[in-house]
Amino acid sequence: MSWIPALAERVKNLKPSPTLAVDAKAKRLKAKGVDIVNLSAGEPDFDTPEHIKEAAIRALRDGFTKYTPVAGIPELKEAVAEKLKRDYGLKYSDSEIMASTGGKQVLYNIAQAILDPGDEVIIPVPYWVSYPAIVELAGGIPRFLQCEADSGFSLDLDALEDMITEKTKALILNSPSNPTGAVYSIQDLKAVGKLATENGFMVITDDIYDEIRFDGNGPDNVASVMPDAKDHCLIVNGVSKTYAMTGWRIGYLAGSEIVVKACTKIQSQSTSNPNSIAQKAAAAALSGPQDCVSIMRDAFLERRDFIVDRLGAIAGVNCVEPKGAFYVFPDVSSYFGSHYGDTLIDGSLALADYLLEKARIACVPGIAFGDDRFIRFSYATDMDTLKEGMDRFEGALKELG
Ligand code: PMP
Ligand code: GLU
Repeated sequence: MSWIPALAERVKNLKPSPTLAVDAKAKRLKAKGVDIVNLSAGEPDFDTPEHIKEAAIRALRDGFTKYTPVAGIPELKEAVAEKLKRDYGLKYSDSEIMASTGGKQVLYNIAQAILDPGDEVIIPVPYWVSYPAIVELAGGIPRFLQCEADSGFSLDLDALEDMITEKTKALILNSPSNPTGAVYSIQDLKAVGKLATENGFMVITDDIYDEIRFDGNGPDNVASVMPDAKDHCLIVNGVSKTYAMTGWRIGYLAGSEIVVKACTKIQSQSTSNPNSIAQKAAAAALSGPQDCVSIMRDAFLERRDFIVDRLGAIAGVNCVEPKGAFYVFPDVSSYFGSHYGDTLIDGSLALADYLLEKARIACVPGIAFGDDRFIRFSYATDMDTLKEGMDRFEGALKELG
């Protein structure tokens, strides 16, 4: 018998990110020659714009290949400050900004910095898959605030108020939302700001999809609509989605100097600075020409309209029109209880498995986002793939009896 290493308690119940897992499975099958339509990944299909790549090549040629300050190079922090001023009218100084290895590490750092065991974090459902895990890894307790499709997944402010206890340390907001594409109204953002200031909790505002909005409005968040709540807000953002830079791994935090300092300490003892070359590229992305952003947004809008139309025409599928990001989250629960041969479709996981095995469409089951009635399609892919995906989806549902 070989010796079995004992793992820490904290990792025993930890599940791998389901979005990354489905995407990896789809890519593996594709590499083996299986004809998969991959609508799982939350990853723009566009290439990183040329001027951003050029900045990285220049950095590499200039030998910009050493450690940088842990919290990022001044040039990137200035570009972040400029973006927050430009898009939100918010002013942040150098000591209130830090860069990390993706928005995901920003969220991880924040949770490690602010949560003691037993502290509660309110997370609206459906939520992005990693929020509960990141909170739990820091010893925190996620408290789930259910949001419903018939109100466009808006916040139930009364239910939110009822959930607040003296243990409430933070609320995570993600607008536009992954997976629903919902955008919170200014009124709701103000109401959250009021609750945060009255009850003394932080608002972790994950603005990673802020530039991908179809409602004609620019980015906003609790801090921008309610200046009195700015001190309570921790802004999380990054370049992955806006500039098609998922692999570069640059995210950033803007907020209270106290939290930024704590996060910097944690990062100094874990990963040190984010990649030096990627920092130069991210600075170029944020401060360079922004026409690439509107070109990609227009393409996402065309795809959204297409997929929402197609889903709307399928019997038993109900879909709220997304106002941003690049996901649709249709309610498919009317198909639960149906069969394919002997296989019972008893929930979103079974349906997603069926779609992958039989129709060769990769999507993410709603249960991964905390609501089993739905599945998530990403439309960050080309129109031909989307058309093929919707044809297969419609055909596969018809075969269920
Ligand atoms: N927040 C949300 C809501 C996301 O969908 C993602 C996607 N990965 C992230 C944060 C983190 O992105 P990244 O680490 O690539 O910056
Ligand atoms: N955020 C993307 C998604 O939801 C990428 C995968 C991940 O980091 O979870 O698909």
